[in-house]
Amino acid sequence: MYEVQVSRKLLIASIATFIFVLLELAAGLFANSLSLIGDAFHNFTDTLALLLALFAVRLERAHAKRVSEVPAKLETLDCPRVRASSRRPVGDLHGEQ
Ligand SMILES: [Zn+2]
Repeated sequence: MYEVQVSRKLLIASIATFIFVLLELAAGLFANSLSLIGDAFHNFTDTLALLLALFAVRLERAHAKRVSEVPAKLETLDCPRVRASSRRPVGDLHGEQ
């Protein structure tokens, strides 16, 4: 649920930033202001960074969902993370066998 909220916030921030980019670019072109146009391009890179973060959050969520759905399949691939969580005795914090 937390990832869904983060994902939604990143999407809203991306859209809001991109709208601001368009407005600032239009204002910069209308006013012949190189600083406004330059800042619009800067904000466009901010939009790309937000979209990259959104992509990372969704990728992580998809991976977590896949891992929770088929743990036995991962175990056959000898994934150390799954092996450690499924075979280590409860209460053993040092990971010794
Ligand atoms: Zn910035």
